[in-house]
Amino acid sequence: MSWALHPLTEEQQEIQKLAREFAHAEIAPHAAAWDRDCHFEPTLVKKMGELGFLGMLLPEEHDGLGVDTSTYLIALEEIAAVDASVAVMMSVHNSLPTSMINRFGSDEQKKRFLKPMARGEILGAFALSEPDAGSDAAALSTQAVKDGESWVLNGAKSWVTNGSTAGAIIVMARTDASGSRKGARGIGAFIVTPDLPGFAVGKKEDKMGLRASPTVSLVLDNLRVPAGNLLGDPSQGFIYSMQSLDNGRLGIAAQAIGIARSALEHSTAYALERRQFGKPIKEFEAIQFKLADMAMRVAAARSLLHSAAAAKDRGQSITQFSAMAKLFASETAMWVTTQAVQIFGGYGYMKDYPVERLFRDAKVTEIYEGTSEIQRIVIARELYAQS
Ligand SMILES: Cc1cc2nc3c(=O)[nH]c(=O)nc-3n(C[C@H](O)[C@H](O)[C@H](O)COP(=O)(O)OP(=O)(O)OC[C@H]3O[C@@H](n4cnc5c(N)ncnc54)[C@H](O)[C@@H]3O)c2cc1C
Repeated sequence: MSWALHPLTEEQQEIQKLAREFAHAEIAPHAAAWDRDCHFEPTLVKKMGELGFLGMLLPEEHDGLGVDTSTYLIALEEIAAVDASVAVMMSVHNSLPTSMINRFGSDEQKKRFLKPMARGEILGAFALSEPDAGSDAAALSTQAVKDGESWVLNGAKSWVTNGSTAGAIIVMARTDASGSRKGARGIGAFIVTPDLPGFAVGKKEDKMGLRASPTVSLVLDNLRVPAGNLLGDPSQGFIYSMQSLDNGRLGIAAQAIGIARSALEHSTAYALERRQFGKPIKEFEAIQFKLADMAMRVAAARSLLHSAAAAKDRGQSITQFSAMAKLFASETAMWVTTQAVQIFGGYGYMKDYPVERLFRDAKVTEIYEGTSEIQRIVIARELYAQS
C-alpha cells in the first residue's frame, strides 16, 4: 500500500527512510523488553538529537532541521510505528517545550536552551496538568510569587511526560494574586531546570501502555526560578500553552497513525500466514473487510493530519483542524488495534505478539493533550466562532 495519496518530496522521502531505518535498527529489537521493564533508554535522546529528530521544527540557526510540519510528522509516524513510547518523547519535546521557547522566548533563553535541545543534550517537558486540573487546566493552582529577581513556585504537577529525565520543563503556574483571580489570563509559563532549589520528581506512574515513557509527578516546594526563566508575558502562559497544544495535537495524531499503521501491517502479514479451515484466514471475507476498513481509516487519518499540517505552514489557524486530526487519528488507533487483536485471535491477547502492546499504547492517544470529549468541544466551539 502506498504511504500517502500525494507524492512525498525528495527531502520527505529521505527523512522517512532515515527515521524508519533508525527505528528498526535502534528501537525495534528492544521495544518489547523496554515495555515489559518500563525502561526509558537515555542513550536514544543523544542519538536522536544527532540525527536531527529533536530539533525538527527549529530553524537551522538553532541547530534545528527547519523542516515543514508534514516532514516532522512523517518522521514521528515512523518512530511511533515501532515504539509509541519513544514517539511521545519526541513529540512532546519538539511540539511543546522547544517550540514554545522558540516562539515565545527571549533571545537569551533561545541561546541558552535551543541548541542543546536540538542536539539532544537537554530533553524538554511540559507541565500543565495537576491533580485537580486536567481538562479544566485553567483551574490550575500552582502559585508563582515574585520575590526580587526570582519567582517562587509552590504546587504539584501530574503526569509529566519526560519529567524525570528532562533538563528543561515548561511549568505553568498562577501569577495572579489569590484575591484577584484572572482565570486563563492569570497564568505564567516558566522554564524550570531540575537543578533549581525546591524542585523534586515525585511518583513515577505504573501505566497500562506507553510503559517505556516515564510519566511522573513534580513537587514544587518553594521552587526558586530566576526571573530570566519566565517565558514572555507573566499573564499569558496558559494562552501560549493552548496555542502550542494546537501543534502538539498534530504530533499525537502522527503517533496514533503510527500505532494504527503498525497494527494494520502486522495484521495483513498474520492473515496471510495463519491458516484455519485449510486456508489462510485472509481468504475469509470477514477478515478482508476488517483489513479494508483498517486501511481506509489509516489513510483517511493521515490525509486529514497532513492537510492540517499544510494549513499550519500556510499560516492558517488550525485549532479546529488539529482537534479533528487528533480526534480522528486517536479513535482510528483504538479501533484499528482492536480489530488487529481480533484478527490475531488468542495470539493477539498474548504479550508474545506485537498487537497486544499496540492496543494498550493506542488508548492514551484518546486521553492526553486533550481527551476526545475536549476535542469535540473545541471542534463544535470553532463551528460557532466561524459563523
Ligand atoms: C500517559 C500520560 C501522559 C501525560 N503527559 C502529560 C504531560 O506531559 N503534561 C501535562 O501537562 N499533562 C500530561 N498528561 C495529562 C493529560 O493531559 C490529562 O490526563 C488530560 O488532559 C485529561 O485530564 P484528566 O486526566 O484530569 O481527566 P478529567 O479532566 O478529570 O476528565 C475525566 C473525564 O471527564 C471528561 N470531561 C472533562 N471535562 C469535560 C467536559 N467539559 N465535557 C465533557 N466531558 C468532560 C473527560 O473527557 C474524561 O473522559 C498526561 C496523561 C497521561 C495519561
